[in-house]
Amino acid sequence: MNVIIIGGGLGGLFTGAILAKEGKTVTIIEKNTTIGGGLQTFERFGETYDTGMHVIAGMHKGNNIRRICDYLGVSDGMKLYDVDDDCTDSIYVACDRKIYNVARGREGFVDSLSGYFPNQRESLKRYVDAMFKIVDEMPLFYLRSASSFIEHSTDFFLSADAFIAKYISDEKLRGVLAYINMLYSGESDITPAFVHAVLSVLYLGGPTRFVDGSDKFADLLADVIKKNGGQIIKSDGVASIQTEDHKITGVTTKSGIRLVADTYVSDIHPCTLLNLFEDPKALPKLYRNRLNDLGNTYSAFTINIKFKPNVFEYINHTGFYISDYDKAWSLADDNDSWPLGFLYMTPPVTRQGKYTNKMIITVPMRWACVEIWENSYLGHRPIEYKVWKEECAKKVLDRMEEIFPSFRDKIEQVNTASPLTIRDYYGVKNGAMCGYAKDYKQLQISMLSVRTKISNLFLTGQNVNLHGFCGVPLTSIRTSEAILGNEYILNKLNEIRD
Ligand SMILES: Cc1cc2nc3c(=O)[nH]c(=O)nc-3n(C[C@H](O)[C@H](O)[C@H](O)COP(=O)(O)OP(=O)(O)OC[C@H]3O[C@@H](n4cnc5c(N)ncnc54)[C@H](O)[C@@H]3O)c2cc1C
Repeated sequence: MNVIIIGGGLGGLFTGAILAKEGKTVTIIEKNTTIGGGLQTFERFGETYDTGMHVIAGMHKGNNIRRICDYLGVSDGMKLYDVDDDCTDSIYVACDRKIYNVARGREGFVDSLSGYFPNQRESLKRYVDAMFKIVDEMPLFYLRSASSFIEHSTDFFLSADAFIAKYISDEKLRGVLAYINMLYSGESDITPAFVHAVLSVLYLGGPTRFVDGSDKFADLLADVIKKNGGQIIKSDGVASIQTEDHKITGVTTKSGIRLVADTYVSDIHPCTLLNLFEDPKALPKLYRNRLNDLGNTYSAFTINIKFKPNVFEYINHTGFYISDYDKAWSLADDNDSWPLGFLYMTPPVTRQGKYTNKMIITVPMRWACVEIWENSYLGHRPIEYKVWKEECAKKVLDRMEEIFPSFRDKIEQVNTASPLTIRDYYGVKNGAMCGYAKDYKQLQISMLSVRTKISNLFLTGQNVNLHGFCGVPLTSIRTSEAILGNEYILNKLNEIRD
């Protein structure tokens, strides 16, 4: 069986590697000059910067994502760096200039936070237990088969903020616990509790970082595809899709090459996919409307910093800035009130020493902040946009000065990227950081099936289920099993374990 995968992001590469390993002839078509999507890196000021994969989890021996990597045979080639166990995350709350350090593991998490909130120790324990209970209702998280019907608890259907409030009475602690929403583009009264629980449980297991850039991991997955007879076409995206009788008959690339396969997998944003069909009615109207109407997660403004040599110490945890406890869930609606929070990290390199050369700051940002320039494209933006980017960087650097006095003096160069950059590089609607937003009020609608109304078209990637390292590899299993047969991969993964 030949399989064509549209898009060589994390989802396309994981799905392609699994299918290639299982004997399918895989062709990945990627529009950019480099594969990886969010795994891409870029060179600036003589340094390598990750674009969309700064902190990952599930990669310790025996963890879920690591087991998929073991099965694919890529684990030995991975260069990872564990963050500190006694401080995986450090949260600075600006309103009272307080820092909260969070430790790894169930006990570490409860102990570290109850150090700041002694009367909340029992509540914190119950909160952590409740998160593990929610995740236990998701068999795929533990790579278990879902042979029997799962009866979900009421917590599962809460919003993430309501879930925290249910277990934690202290308003300040609620704000602190919400910090992790920046890792999943969470919003109050939208993001479901299970998204918060999955991310938290995974990160309690210990976050990890790629050494020397996340693109190396994309290359490992690409090698699995190529070693098993597959190919990767770069710098030539899919321009159109032909269909007949509810089946795809072929795709044509921008350079005019026509490629044909038995099966097609889309790793691109579904709205981008819809625009590729030559017959706009190839998919039913109801389905098209649903894909077009679904809300997207917010985007991000990124600041990539190059430090002067030997002046800024490497930080082995992720740092978070929250302006106020009651703003932990607030996302600035416009440029005037932006930013209300952000996260920063120093990416490790081989033989990481005491000092770091670089830092990446990721600041949540709504599409509305850049909408006036939505008709501009890479390399052709107006001067006003460039001025605006400088102003944005200034606002964030002012706040970094609060945490690290004389921060600016240590900087050699600054590069910035906006939601427009994310839209243009990944082809993601509105530069959405994590694809479609999952909404607890309409869970069934905001979670997509990997199958579509076109019998030989399957979906993969962050828009189907969860985003990032916590979700996309798991969805790749579902996509692969829709093609190979139910439980096919899970059985293999569990055989390896036994
Ligand atoms: C700023 C930022 C920071 C992030 N940080 C983290 C993090 O620290 N940890 C984490 O786990 N997640 C993080 N994420 C989320 C993570 O990057 C994504 O969830 C993940 O990369 C999505 O993978 P994907 O395969 O679904 O999509 P993508 O990575 O978007 O891949 C889609 C691919 O399809 C290609 N494509 C688009 N159109 C076409 C076409 N017509 N033809 C061919 N190819 C096409 C694109 O070029 C792209 O390579 C971050 C995201 C952003 C934006």
